[in-house]
Amino acid sequence: MTISCDVVVVGLGPGGESVATQLAEAGLDVVGVESRLVGGECPYYGCIPSKMVIRAADVLGEARRVPDLAGTVEVQPDFGVVARRIREEATDDWDDTVAVRRLEDAGARVVRGHGRLAGPRTVTVGEETYEARVGVVLNPGTRPAELPVDGLADTPYWTNREVLRAEAAPASMAVVGGGPIGAELAQAFGRFGTRVTVVEHGPRLLGPEEPEAGDLLADVFAEEDITVLTGAELKRVTYDDGRFTLQVDDQELDVEQLLVAAGRTPNLDDLGLETVGLDPGARAVEVDERMRAGDGLWVIGDVAGHGAFTHLSMYQAGVCVRDVLGQDGPPADYRAVPHATFTDPEVAGVGLTEERARQAGLTVRTGTQDLSANTRGWINRARGLVKLVVDADRDVLVGATVVGPTAGDILGHLALAVHAEVPVATLRSMIYAYPTMHRAISEALADLDD
Ligand SMILES: Cc1cc2nc3c(=O)[nH]c(=O)nc-3n(C[C@H](O)[C@H](O)[C@H](O)COP(=O)(O)OP(=O)(O)OC[C@H]3O[C@@H](n4cnc5c(N)ncnc54)[C@H](O)[C@@H]3O)c2cc1C
Repeated sequence: MTISCDVVVVGLGPGGESVATQLAEAGLDVVGVESRLVGGECPYYGCIPSKMVIRAADVLGEARRVPDLAGTVEVQPDFGVVARRIREEATDDWDDTVAVRRLEDAGARVVRGHGRLAGPRTVTVGEETYEARVGVVLNPGTRPAELPVDGLADTPYWTNREVLRAEAAPASMAVVGGGPIGAELAQAFGRFGTRVTVVEHGPRLLGPEEPEAGDLLADVFAEEDITVLTGAELKRVTYDDGRFTLQVDDQELDVEQLLVAAGRTPNLDDLGLETVGLDPGARAVEVDERMRAGDGLWVIGDVAGHGAFTHLSMYQAGVCVRDVLGQDGPPADYRAVPHATFTDPEVAGVGLTEERARQAGLTVRTGTQDLSANTRGWINRARGLVKLVVDADRDVLVGATVVGPTAGDILGHLALAVHAEVPVATLRSMIYAYPTMHRAISEALADLDD
């Protein structure tokens, strides 16, 4: 059967859900297609449940600091508490009824199934064909990458989708991948008593960040008895009698659980992209500054190639909605995309790292402040740093990294400065409250080399 509508949204992750809601509220006839759960990865298997585990682990981490600062406390971790909270308070036991109802209340139709393009402005879902008068918005997101490691596919290993449904913390776990997801969960489970080994192919944790950030985090992990193997190659995995054996270079690891957090695969391979002249094998779809990938075709979210963050998917949803509705507004601008990894200390960044600024041919000045030399950092016995990257020719900040407690929030000042191209002289003339962590920004500004 062929069904007409104004817009089809394929994939209802954070961005797709937002587009479908806004366009339906604007009066368009919208069909939203979702093969798994309305809301996508973030609320069910990503940001929210992972940050709930991290929050619980942070409390344990803080409790263990009591002897150093305030006396004694007995800590008996129980992962069941946070597992229940995720199941009952966050995910409704991985049921999206409420999200579907919210979308339908906004006026959209929700169709369950796998959507595929079948030419311009046309999407098939099973036996049905949807013809969109205005166009199609794709928000298919990503799935955990399957590593081509000997034996791995035959084992019941965890990805983010299984680990965030865990009911108990395993006694031991290998985490393959020292990026944001691997690092966050490695530390969180470590604090629940799991003996964790991180296996990272690259030279350090959080590879694309400033090297100082990954090195500092490695020190903290070592203090928390988390083993980090860098420059390590996972060669083979076997599973026998409830245990995993990993061959990593020439050593063997024997663990109760294995979490693979080593990259994401874009859900572009079975989307019918070839029917509109696009490459289904690409890692991202090329879009313009209005999220357009072709006539009557918009692409947003992780597969739009500018980073895999919920806030970016939602931002792009706003740009896309304005374009679909023919409204004016700023085009997509990626100079100041902030991000945070919620380890303890957090690692947050915006704009360019020093290395990327130099590769871009800028004349670079940097300034750094160690957080333990900042008054509040010293009081709190905090570890961390603020590093600023300045384009010396324009005298504006083009990048910044903050490592420390609430680094993601401290970063807000710096994201504003990068976004608005606030002159360094203006940043230096501001007053920074004493004693705050964000005062380390003024100290890093004072450290800028000439
Ligand atoms: C463990 C973890 C932690 C994370 N933590 C953070 C964080 O702290 N902060 C942050 O900003 N980001 C975080 N992210 C990333 C974040 O989850 C994603 O960037 C976010 O979900 C946005 O993705 P998206 O909108 O592109 O699509 P997704 O959320 O991936 O949703 C896409 C949806 O499309 C559906 N779909 C795909 N193909 C089809 C099809 N052909 N037909 C129908 N439906 C289809 C999928 O089922 C899915 O529901 C985390 C991710 C993970 C895995």
